[in-house]
Amino acid sequence: MLRFAPSPTGDMHIGNLRAAIFNYIIARQNKEEFLIRIEDTDKVRNIEGKDKEILSLLNLFGLFWDRLVYQSDNFKYHNLIAQELIKKGKAFYCYASKEFLENKRQEAIEENKPFRYKDCWAEMQKDENPNPVIRLKSAEKDISFYDEVKGECKFDKFEIDSFVIIREDSIPTYNFACSIDDMLYNISFIIRGEDHTSNTPKQILIRQSLEYDSEIKHAHLPIILNKDGKKMSKRENESSVKWLLEQGFLPKAILNYLVLMGNKTPKEIFSLEEAIDFFSLSNISKSPVRFDIDQLRYINREHLKNLNEKEMALLLESSDLSIGALGKIYLEEASTLNEIRDRIKKILSPKNTEIKNIESKSTESCEESCNAKSKNAESSKLDDKDAKDLAIYKDKISLLRKVILDLINANDNVINDFDSLKAKVMSETKLKGKDLFLPLRFLLTGAFSGPHLNILYPYLRFYLKDIIRGE
Ligand code: GLU
Repeated sequence: MLRFAPSPTGDMHIGNLRAAIFNYIIARQNKEEFLIRIEDTDKVRNIEGKDKEILSLLNLFGLFWDRLVYQSDNFKYHNLIAQELIKKGKAFYCYASKEFLENKRQEAIEENKPFRYKDCWAEMQKDENPNPVIRLKSAEKDISFYDEVKGECKFDKFEIDSFVIIREDSIPTYNFACSIDDMLYNISFIIRGEDHTSNTPKQILIRQSLEYDSEIKHAHLPIILNKDGKKMSKRENESSVKWLLEQGFLPKAILNYLVLMGNKTPKEIFSLEEAIDFFSLSNISKSPVRFDIDQLRYINREHLKNLNEKEMALLLESSDLSIGALGKIYLEEASTLNEIRDRIKKILSPKNTEIKNIESKSTESCEESCNAKSKNAESSKLDDKDAKDLAIYKDKISLLRKVILDLINANDNVINDFDSLKAKVMSETKLKGKDLFLPLRFLLTGAFSGPHLNILYPYLRFYLKDIIRGE
């Protein structure tokens, strides 16, 4: 069985998601079960509802689990096993107070020595402390394991002193709960972030003390760097899975990118099912990988291109195929759903010729925009160049608006196709060249640049009266 073991203490980070994807893929490849274990040992840092959020994200990414467990449900077993270890002489109660240990730590700092817990301190404060912790006895020999990404990893026995496995309130420590649960659920392969490498010898020691001898393979995934080559912090927007989704990156594109980064793959654009066919941990780079949002943008666009108009319309919260078609056309210049929404919102908003430069959020659905009429008269923010063009062409825009509105009201057939409309408008207004096309483009799309109007027009045509309205 493989497992993904998120802590419900914060938003899901792309590093966590990458580990979840790899575990899922290997479980599917090996035809083993995939377990989700919510590691809720840290009562103070647990955030209400985060577990549900993580589970719904995993669902969204198609990482379906066979079993779901909450670590806290196993606390009773963790305590029973700790008692077992005490009976075997592999663990002991430690009564040393926090202050006592802090003093010892300070002494070590002053002597310029690394701090090491000494087993002889365990009972020194026995009469003063009614709530002892339980410590596992330190390693007697060096601990090594083979890491499927990093290769051989070796830890000196002196690095592992007797460490706490059960706290004074009977709650197991992370290392203890994790190691015992991996044993209880018969985990065959642990794939997790590199930050856990130093926990692994402790977790191995715990199982060795219990004489558990089933083999567990390990892989620690290199950390993810930001664009400046520094460790990506949880505070950076781009590291948050939720943020990426809010920007309009598709789950399948994010998944594709997280599998692709720092990996040798037979192709660049692929689905989860395809990744299951070719994925091998041996192709994962040992060095940290840099998160490149531009590459993610490219991958997102490629996945968006594979959608049909109906699928695109649904993602844009519209049931109208014309909206889906417009979305697809705008892939010429947009890479995320939000960028497409922004373009479509501009099309459907009133075309003010007075510059107000009002910023609007692009999260509103197209359906809402369609129905917005003049209620939400602010068009999307104009950049400086557009504002300048608007000042130059505002009279021509008003003139075109009037001419086209007359044609609509007269039910003139010329509005049915772009070439006829263009010819008619040219002859009525005597405008030509960019004096015609720039204001016409603004009137039809709310922008002075974009895809060819004759490609857009068949889909704009149904909303024409709405599209060309002013405030
Ligand atoms: N709960 C740990 C974390 O979220 C993962 C531990 C593990 O995979 O062993 O970082």
